[in-house]
Amino acid sequence: MIIIIGAGPIGLASAIELKQRNVDCMVIEKGCLVNSIFNYPTNMTFFSTSDKIEIGGIPFISHGPKPTRREALEYYRRVYEHYKLDVRVYEAVQQIEPAGSGFTVTTSKDVYHAHKLILATGFFDIPHRMDVPGEDLPKVKHYFDEPHPYSGLSVLVVGAGNSAVDVALECYRCGCDVTMVVRDAEIRKSVKYWVRPDIENRIREGSIHAHFNTRVVEIRDHDVVLATPEGEKVLKNDFVFAMTGYEPNYKLLEMAGVAFNDDEFRTPVFDSNTQMSNVDGIYLAGVVCGGLHTGKWFIENSITHATRIADHIAEAEKVSEQD
Ligand SMILES: Cc1cc2nc3c(=O)[nH]c(=O)nc-3n(C[C@H](O)[C@H](O)[C@H](O)COP(=O)(O)OP(=O)(O)OC[C@H]3O[C@@H](n4cnc5c(N)ncnc54)[C@H](O)[C@@H]3O)c2cc1C
Repeated sequence: MIIIIGAGPIGLASAIELKQRNVDCMVIEKGCLVNSIFNYPTNMTFFSTSDKIEIGGIPFISHGPKPTRREALEYYRRVYEHYKLDVRVYEAVQQIEPAGSGFTVTTSKDVYHAHKLILATGFFDIPHRMDVPGEDLPKVKHYFDEPHPYSGLSVLVVGAGNSAVDVALECYRCGCDVTMVVRDAEIRKSVKYWVRPDIENRIREGSIHAHFNTRVVEIRDHDVVLATPEGEKVLKNDFVFAMTGYEPNYKLLEMAGVAFNDDEFRTPVFDSNTQMSNVDGIYLAGVVCGGLHTGKWFIENSITHATRIADHIAEAEKVSEQD
C-alpha cells in the first residue's frame, strides 16, 4: 500500500497518477478535502488561471479566467468524486516509523503499514509567529476569513506580502481603519503586479496607514506597541492580522527521517528527477518541497511532482513483480 499524506491539490494529483498506473494508494488528510484552500480567505481569487491548476486531465471551468476559492473547492471535490479516490479525512498523521521494508503510520484514528509514503503536507498549517507578548490574545489572527466582522474597527495588518496586502485592501474597502506594519522599507516586490499599484496608491493618499521599517513590540487588549524609526508608538487597536507567513511541519518531516539542505530555507533533501527524499521509499510532493521558501513552489509548477513520483513508483512496482 502507498500512503499519501495530505489531500491538497498535489496529494490528490499524486493519487490520480498512481491510480492511472494501477497502483493502490490511500490519502490521509487531517482536515477536509483540500483543507488549505478551504482555509483561504473566503473571497479569495487565485492568481493562476484555472487551466494551470487542473489535475487528472479534468478541465477546470471558472466564470472568470482566474478561479475563486469557492470554484476551486467545487472543482477539486468533483475531481475526487470522478476518480473515486480513497481519501480518509479528519485523520491526522501523528507518527511515522520505519518498519521492515516500509513504514508504520500512526494517525489519530488508526495504525497503517505502507511500503512507500508520499508527503504532500504543504505549509499552511503552521503560522510563523512574531513571538511578541500578546500574540496569543483571541484578537490576533494568523488566518483571514472575510472583512465584514471587522468593519468600523481598528485593524493592524502585519506583513507586506500578497496575503497582507489582500487583507489590508479588503478590510479598507469594508470600512475598517487599517494600519500596516512592514518590517522592510517597502511593500514586497513579489506582490501581484495588478495589486501593487492599488496598495501603493492607498498608502500614498493616506487611506491605509503604513509604518515601514517597523515591528510589533507588544499586543494588548485595546492597543498595540510598535517600534518605528521615530521611536515607540502606541496605536489603538481592535484586531491584528499577522500575515507573517507559514512553514512546513518540520516535526513530521524529521520524524520520517527526511534530511535538510544547509541553506537559509531549510529545504528538504530530495532527488528532483524522482522526488524521492534521502529516505528510500519516502517521496516529497508539492509546496512542502520549498521548506521556508514558501513562494518557490505552487500548484502550477508542482503538479509535475505527482507524475514523476507515480512514474518512479510504478516502475519500481513492475520490477518487484518481475523478481
Ligand atoms: C492565499 C493563497 C493563494 C494561493 N494562490 C495560488 C494560485 O493562484 N496558484 C497556485 O498555483 N498556487 C497558489 N497558492 C499556493 C498553493 O496553491 C497552495 O499552497 C496549494 O494548496 C499547495 O498544494 P499542496 O497540495 O502542495 O499543499 P496543500 O494544499 O497545503 O495540502 C497539504 C494538505 O496536507 C494536510 N496535512 C498536513 N499535515 C498533515 C498531517 N499530519 N496529517 C494529515 N494531513 C496533513 C493539510 O491539511 C493539507 O490539506 C496559494 C497559496 C495561498 C496561501
